[in-house]
Amino acid sequence: MKLSQILFSQGFGTRRVCAGMVYAGLVSHQGRELDDPDEDFATDGLVLHVEGRAWPYHAKALVLLHKPAGYECSQKPKHHPSVMTLLPPPLRERGVQPIGRLDEDTTGLLLLTDDGTLIHRLTSPKHHVPKVYEVGCKHPVDATQVQRLLDGVVLDDDPAPVRAAACEAVGETGLRLTLTEGKYHQVKRMVAAVSNRVETLHRSRFGHLEIPADLKPGQWIWVPGWNEPAG
Ligand code: URA
Repeated sequence: MKLSQILFSQGFGTRRVCAGMVYAGLVSHQGRELDDPDEDFATDGLVLHVEGRAWPYHAKALVLLHKPAGYECSQKPKHHPSVMTLLPPPLRERGVQPIGRLDEDTTGLLLLTDDGTLIHRLTSPKHHVPKVYEVGCKHPVDATQVQRLLDGVVLDDDPAPVRAAACEAVGETGLRLTLTEGKYHQVKRMVAAVSNRVETLHRSRFGHLEIPADLKPGQWIWVPGWNEPAG
């Protein structure tokens, strides 16, 4: 694949920006500074250096977005812009899509990928991937509410109770809730089921992934370590 096409596919910018990066001497391979955007490379196991940082070629994209409030996860949003508009066109053109959804007013960690197998693995209830939510409630949280969320509450669309895998009160009106499923509005409905109400909702973890401290709302990164060659 041509070098500028490789950089484009990795989300570095438009084809023209990618060619410009090569002309500016920002890209090297095995210690050799590259100067021809049309140079061909085999992508298997390819590691480029871009602006001095090792960049293993990602055949599939997995990006972590710090979702701000006011964005919908749908590809066809109804009232607010789609989270897809926060990603550069090369990533959108690869067909990345959110792994599960966050509500328009929920902030925090959203993963997006073009890897269908990964979407299935991370959203299937069978795999019990834990997701941690920081919840701001309208009313004070008491020990009974925490215990009921751990024991299981019944939601309106299913007689089987849903349980928090972990739950603790944080301050007077906060909850930290870990869920391993992803039902529609699950946190809001569970908190409503114990006679409280969600005022703010932020997802701080997905599996072992956390939002890096310097990643501001609206910013995204490739997931570190994803798809990197061993060693
Ligand atoms: N549960 C909710 O109620 N909303 C979200 O955005 C995520 C989990």
